[in-house]
Amino acid sequence: MKKIQNYINGEMIDPVSGNHLENTEPATGQVYGSIPDSDDKDLIMAVNAAENAQYDWANTSAEIRSKILENLADLIDANADELARAEAIDNGKPISLAKQVDIYRSAANIRFFAHASTQFSSESHSMENTAINFTLRDPIGIVACISPWNLPLYLFTWKIAPALAVGNVVIAKPSEVTPMTSYLFSKLCIQAGLPKGVLNIVHGTGQNIGSAMVVHPKIKAISFTGGTSTGAHIAKSTAGMFKKMSLELGGKNPTLVFADCDFEETVTEVVRAAFANQGQICLCGSRIYIERSIYEKFKQAFIKKVATIKIGDPLEQETQHGALVSEQHMQKVLSYIELAKTEGGKILTGGNQIKMNGRCANGYFVEPTVIENLDNFCRTNQEEIFGPVCTIMPFDSDEEALALANGNEYGLASSIWTNDLKRAHNLAKNIEAGIVWINCWLLRDLRTPFGGVKSSGVGREGGLEALRFFTEPKNVCIKY
Ligand code: NDP
Repeated sequence: MKKIQNYINGEMIDPVSGNHLENTEPATGQVYGSIPDSDDKDLIMAVNAAENAQYDWANTSAEIRSKILENLADLIDANADELARAEAIDNGKPISLAKQVDIYRSAANIRFFAHASTQFSSESHSMENTAINFTLRDPIGIVACISPWNLPLYLFTWKIAPALAVGNVVIAKPSEVTPMTSYLFSKLCIQAGLPKGVLNIVHGTGQNIGSAMVVHPKIKAISFTGGTSTGAHIAKSTAGMFKKMSLELGGKNPTLVFADCDFEETVTEVVRAAFANQGQICLCGSRIYIERSIYEKFKQAFIKKVATIKIGDPLEQETQHGALVSEQHMQKVLSYIELAKTEGGKILTGGNQIKMNGRCANGYFVEPTVIENLDNFCRTNQEEIFGPVCTIMPFDSDEEALALANGNEYGLASSIWTNDLKRAHNLAKNIEAGIVWINCWLLRDLRTPFGGVKSSGVGREGGLEALRFFTEPKNVCIKY
């Protein structure tokens, strides 16, 4: 059994209460470890540690902070195999994906912000012959970073790295569902020479420790990634406390396929966009709209391609489709498939839980599922399922495609597949989403703003946006 500990004031410690939660491997359904069920008492220790570290870290030079973060990125690279295996066991995702995406990008996030913070500059505004204004950008102080289970270490580092790089001290909570890599990461922080108290990682449930973190008066900013209803709850519970807030929430992303697309490449990439990580990426394209003239041809090619996805034990190198993250989540996904049927949906492929053999016999596997014949405004097409389920629908014009894409409360990402430049520009401008990919999906440049509109969130992460979020601007005006 693997016992996870909190990382507070530079040390690995058990929760004050001694209470633990079970940690389950989704591919086997077996409990394989325990997680601290942290509460207010652990939070007090973490806040005290952060407060003690705050002044020194804020006054450490950007170069030294950057060097420590680089050490950390190097240690992630050096331990990539162990971390990828741990992520695959904890989350159910294929080990190859964990290695190539999750762990690779965790190191890349940290390295990127280690460098970016040394290039970060603030503005000045001259008032001709009257005065000069310049903007100081100081760290905020103690900030909270709360992350979800779908890309555990990747999204955890995406928040922590910019916060630390610009001199904040951090209290971070990974999802209780996937705590293992952030636990291993805390050990790497010690090895990398991160001063004690600068980063504190407290494990436990959103209800116990997460909700206590967000309302703690000494925590001045919250960077949260997770579901829209949790984001709304956090916004409500902190209303009137005037904390700086970045909320990266759910998505129900449209994929628009036009008749003039590069057909084979589009089929391959649209399948990947729908089913990567078992459809558990906030950016996955789960509403697929296809121009009517190629609808039948695309549908057949799409289903054929889906059938080639290699489902298997996440720990096998060739597996492309692993387990869903928990039994509860699997039941939610299966319930949406049942709902789709009652809404008139026709299951073209998939639709069932998969009974695996051997080690994974009790795991949480669901077939990649494609549904057609649904109205755009039914619940299946409106609500975030966050699993290996997508719907396909025909459209007749650019205007209709845009209306279908925008006819949803979410607005995180979108992808458009066409060779018509004018159309691509036009749709990119008018689509209600924070991220638009043209003829690609999940092509990420860490300098670009990342986040959504409508119910997909408030604020942006990535590049300068993140460095600005984690600093407090102060304008100084000097009269000539
Ligand atoms: P949740 O909203 O359930 O949880 C996210 C994090 O918040 C977890 O660490 C959770 O802890 C914690 N939490 C739960 N309740 C509270 C609370 N009251 N106060 C403070 N923290 C709390 O999301 P999931 O983990 O289920 O992740 C899936 C969701 O995340 C999907 O909706 C997906 O779209 C979204 N997401 C958005 C992304 C984006 O960039 N926009 C990227 C990735 C995912 P615990 O799990 O321990 O209860």
